[in-house]
Parts: sequence; C-alpha cells; structure tokens
Amino acid sequence: MSRGVLTPDQPPALDQPPPLQDYNLFEHDLPLQEAVADEGGEWGLEHLSAFGAIAGGQALRLGPIADRNPPVLRSRHPGQRLDEVEFHPAWTELLRLGIEAGIPSLPWRDPRAGAHVVRGALLMLLSEAEAGVACPLSMTYAAVPALRRSPELAAEWERRFLDPDPKTAALCGMAMTERQGGSDVRSNTTRAGPTADEGVFVLTGHKWFCSHPVSEAFLVLAQSSGGLSCFLLPRFLPDGSPNEGFRIVRLKDKLGTRALASAEVEFEGAVASLVGEEGQGVRTIIDMVNHTRLDCVLGSAALMRRAVAEATHHAAHRAAFGKPLIDQPLMQNVLADLCVESEAATRLAMRLAHSYDSDFEPPEFRRMATPVAKYWVCKRTTPLVVEALECLGGNGFVEDSAMPRLLRDSPLNSIWEGSGNVIALDVLRTASKEPETVEAFLAEVGLAGGMDQRLDAAVKKIREVMTDGAADSSSAQYMARGLAERLALVLQASLMLRHSPPEVGDAFLSSRISQASGKAFGILPMGADCPAIIDRHRPKLAA
Ligand SMILES: Cc1cc2nc3c(=O)[nH]c(=O)nc-3n(C[C@H](O)[C@H](O)[C@H](O)COP(=O)(O)OP(=O)(O)OC[C@H]3O[C@@H](n4cnc5c(N)ncnc54)[C@H](O)[C@@H]3O)c2cc1C
Repeated sequence: MSRGVLTPDQPPALDQPPPLQDYNLFEHDLPLQEAVADEGGEWGLEHLSAFGAIAGGQALRLGPIADRNPPVLRSRHPGQRLDEVEFHPAWTELLRLGIEAGIPSLPWRDPRAGAHVVRGALLMLLSEAEAGVACPLSMTYAAVPALRRSPELAAEWERRFLDPDPKTAALCGMAMTERQGGSDVRSNTTRAGPTADEGVFVLTGHKWFCSHPVSEAFLVLAQSSGGLSCFLLPRFLPDGSPNEGFRIVRLKDKLGTRALASAEVEFEGAVASLVGEEGQGVRTIIDMVNHTRLDCVLGSAALMRRAVAEATHHAAHRAAFGKPLIDQPLMQNVLADLCVESEAATRLAMRLAHSYDSDFEPPEFRRMATPVAKYWVCKRTTPLVVEALECLGGNGFVEDSAMPRLLRDSPLNSIWEGSGNVIALDVLRTASKEPETVEAFLAEVGLAGGMDQRLDAAVKKIREVMTDGAADSSSAQYMARGLAERLALVLQASLMLRHSPPEVGDAFLSSRISQASGKAFGILPMGADCPAIIDRHRPKLAA
C-alpha cells in the first residue's frame, strides 16, 4: 500500500477538516465582491475573478514555501564584493504574479474611476496567500505619485515601474528609517552632497530598514545643504554598472514576512537624483507614504479575511460534543464577531482605496481617513488572527495550518509606515491643521445620518470632543488613540449601515458602537443573526 493514499482499509481522517486550498479567493469572498462593486470597481470583476483563482491556487501553495525558504544575502565572492540576495523560486514566482496582475501599475496605466479599488482588491487577494510579497509591489505603486514631482525623472522611470511584463519591469523601494529614528525622520543623518551635474548628488550614511534591497531604485531621505530632501537612488547607473556606493550590510532576521528581504544598507558616495524640491523631502515622500499606508490597510484586511476563511471553514468541518463546531452557540458568536470585524475592515479598505482615485474625489476625506483606517484596521488584525487561530484548536498552533504564519505576519502593518502612536498623533495633527478634513470625514459618516440612533449619538459625541483643535496639548496626545478608534468605528458603522446586509450592520452597531469595544471577540448581543453572518463569509468548497 502506498503511503498517503486513503484506501477502504484505512480509517478516515477522523473529523479533520480538508485543507482550504485550490479555490477562488475572490469568488468565495462575498463582502469583497460587494465592496469592489460599490466603490466603482465593477468593471474589474472579471480580472479579479481570474486572479482570485490564481491567488487561491498557485499563490496559496507557493506562500508557505517562500516563507520556509527565506532569502540569503551573498555579499562576498572571492576577491569581489557582491550585493546579491538569493531568493527561493517560490518568492520570484509570487512577485511575478503580482506584477503581471498589475498591482504596482494598474491605476497609473489606466486611471479611470475605481482603478485604485480594483488594484487594491488584487493586492488583498495576493496578500492572503503571502503578505511579504505585497511590500515591493506596494512600494513601487506608491513611488509613482512622489516621483511625479520631478517630471523628467518620472518620464525616465515610470515606464519601467509600470511595465506589466515581469521580465522587464523595475521595482522601487523606500529608505527612510535610520538607526536613531524611523518615526522621527527629521533626525536622519544621511548626507547628500552636490555633484557637477545639476540635480545629481552623492549620498553617505546608512538606513536601518530597507525592504527588498534588490529593487532597481529607492526613494531615500537625506540631508542636503537645503535641508531634508528626497532622492531617487538607482541600484545600477545608466551605463549598466552597479551604483558602487550602495551596499547591503545584512538582512534582518524577522518575526514575520520572512520571505521578504528587509535589509540594513549603507551609502558610501552612492549616486542619486533629487526628487521634488531641495529641503522638501518629507513633503515629497509623503505621497509615497500615504499610498503605502493605504496598502497597510488593504494588507491587514486581507490577513483578517484569510483568518476568517480558515476559522469558518474549520468550524464547518469539525464536530465537538456531538455537533459541528459551527452550530455550537458560543462558537457561532465568536465566528460571527470575527466575520463582522473582517467585513468592516474590507469595507473601510475599499472605501479608502476609492478615495485615492484622486481625479474623481477631492483629497480632504482621504487625508483624515488614511491615518484613521491605518490605525484601527492594522491594530485589530493581530487580535483577530489570534482568535481565529484558537477556533482551530491545537491545529491552529501547528505550522501545518496557515495560522502561525498569519499570526507572525499580522503585527507588521501596524508598525510599518507609522506605528500606532505615530498614526494616532497624525489623526490629531491633521484634524488640527486641516479642519476641513474633519468636516469631509464626518460628512461621509453622515451619509448614514438618521439610519440608526446609536450612530447618530456617537457622531454627536465625537463632534463635541473634536471642536477643540489643540493637537499639541499633552492631554490631547494622551487621548489620541481613543479618538482615532472612535473615528474609525463611526466610519465603519456608516459604511456597514449603508452597504452591508442589515444583520451584519446591526451586529456591528450593537457590539462596537453601543458598547465599548476592545473586549475579546464573541461578544455579540442576543438576537444577532450569527448563522447568516457566518454563512456569508464561509468559503464553501465543492465536496
Ligand atoms: C519588516 C519591516 C520592514 C520595514 N521596511 C522599511 C523600508 O523598506 N523602508 C523604511 O524606511 N523603513 C522600513 N521599516 C521601518 C519602519 O517603517 C519603522 O520601524 C517604523 O516607522 C518605526 O520606526 P522605528 O523603528 O525607528 O521606531 P521609533 O520611531 O523609535 O518608535 C518606537 C515606538 O515609539 C512610538 N513613538 C514614536 N514617537 C512617538 C511620540 N511622539 N509619542 C508617542 N509614541 C511615539 C512609536 O509609535 C513606536 O511604537 C520596516 C520595518 C519593518 C519591521
């Protein structure tokens, strides 16, 4: 008898759920389909469905392989310095799938309404399979608007960054964080000295984090005589020779996203071109930062979705105490609560993506909604993944399941591109400096005005606390997380009331608006229609 083949003599796999693989991640995700269509991405449904099959097939299989085979730095060859990183073919293939699908390029090549939504959904689908690969795809997408501040450079590089052919496409990374500061980039010590060529500088210094250090170019912050400025640093010069002053020092040994190479790098006279105005580095790179913050929200919503799919699938196929887990009342409460959180995250992520269709929507809402969503959706991801992991019991703790990797990957988006406190303070600062962003945000929330008294009352309270704009007062800073959380919750509530089925909206309102959140999952009040909520979220594989 050959090993691994089930024959009539062998006992069946006692109540062990079948693996959740080889299924269409998009077609089995009703909340995502609805959100894409509602946010202007209906024209992309076919592309999303085709990519959903790839993401749930090939990519879902490659993700764990890439994770188990992290990249290795090859910095020396006898007599020669190398700055090469060896990747497992599974990583290269995942990257190829993302480029081909248009994740770095779609909205810039085809800037129609809903383009950022369709592209955001593509990113979510791939992130469900492998979170780390989203990073270089996201940074390349995000670099484009920053680069456009220097039209000549943009003309030279955009063509390469937006190339949908993985064989010829270029990727762009970002290097801001230094040893002494990631949040406080104004403390950057990397120096930029001018050369005889106008706009061309040489950089000397280091960066403590620089992900995907084999990208073709990086946007880098450095101090020039005019102040902190933004530069494009190519890894290879126009004649094809390496930009010798760029060195990879080591790769980080990370908690999660282990397939993604994140490096410490040094610059010793690395050649770079000024992007935007000298001394305006933060203002220039902020366009990139905001687009990657959007992607942190999308990536976190994707991890939540994957966790919910695994948990609901497991509970449907596993019994305890004589009943399938999915029919046990307390498990229903836990699962439905997870589903509600995941749907709220997906809704918010898609609405935020739509607000990046900047040709079609003024920027005020986006300016406030970006830090609000980044703060809350990323913050909720790890607790949700932990609870979903527990739904699988002991299996959830074992690497054969997807859950340990999801858990290791889940805190990253809350740290990257502004950790929780920094983002909450950003909400405060934006509210104080640009009061029109608060009005735009509350106007969006107000689209559900009169639909539910609980939301109306919560919005009234928020208006009261937001009238005082003293963002720099220490008491306002002390309370900033609470404010960011409340803003996120009322926006999610408004979106759910307007777009989700009534049972989902009601479950959200009754557990997150009428009572304080922050408790364990499984706190939906009596009367919530848990079976309907779970059924909406559970992937249903053909037998
Ligand atoms: C896997 C990974 C990949 C990364 N890739 C890149 C990359 O490609 N390019 C890049 O430039 N960076 C990258 N980073 C760096 C990341 O963006 C920074 O780690 C992050 O911005 C935080 O900066 P820091 O580590 O210096 O922490 P710090 O700035 O020292 O912050 C430490 C803590 O203090 C809090 N804090 C800071 N200021 C305040 C304040 N005023 N009030 C209250 N609390 C405060 C922060 O919220 C945080 O919790 C990466 C990080 C990781 C983990």
